[in-house]
Amino acid sequence: MVRPMYRSRSLKRVVRRTPGGRVVVHYERRENTPMRCGRCGAILSGVPIKDRERRKLPKTAKRPERMFGGVLCPKCLREVLKEFVRKNLVSPTAGSSTS
Ligand SMILES: [Zn+2]
Repeated sequence: MVRPMYRSRSLKRVVRRTPGGRVVVHYERRENTPMRCGRCGAILSGVPIKDRERRKLPKTAKRPERMFGGVLCPKCLREVLKEFVRKNLVSPTAGSSTS
């Protein structure tokens, strides 16, 4: 059994052949995966790509300062907001016209 710290799936397993001919597994830290939109999967702009930068920078520099900044891309946000507004506008007016 490997050491507990190496069981993490955030570590990438790489098979290496040593000079002595043995095949060993090396564990490498996964790094620098760009943040993606939670709805369509597009790469988010305005979010630093490097993990180190994401850790170090102030919060305001880590994502756009709009609602769902760093979670949804602007296209998806626009669509979500439009859907939300349409849903909430249509149902109360229909209810008030019948009553
Ligand atoms: Zn999106």
